[in-house]
Amino acid sequence: MQDIATFDDAARQTVELANRIADEQPEADLREIADGLLSGAVHYWLYAYQPCENRHCEDCAPLGTAEQRLARLIELVRDFAVESEYFHSPNDHNAGRA
Ligand SMILES: [Zn+2]
Repeated sequence: MQDIATFDDAARQTVELANRIADEQPEADLREIADGLLSGAVHYWLYAYQPCENRHCEDCAPLGTAEQRLARLIELVRDFAVESEYFHSPNDHNAGRA
């Protein structure tokens, strides 16, 4: 339960940070803000998921290499994207017009 609260809090505060940057820099391109946040998030994620010093650690084994961590990161990003209310846009070029 605590973990879910932490997850939700981190996600909410990240969006709030993006909105604050956008408010403070009205001229800024929202996509530049978004790319910067994503870059920072990826950086932090890779920092947090570094394996421990024990090369035989079973907990760390599934994400024990850079390629394994990258695959997991891409999987997570895909899951978060698909779950987002903004995944589909009414302006999508393949959106049906009924
Ligand atoms: Zn470990």
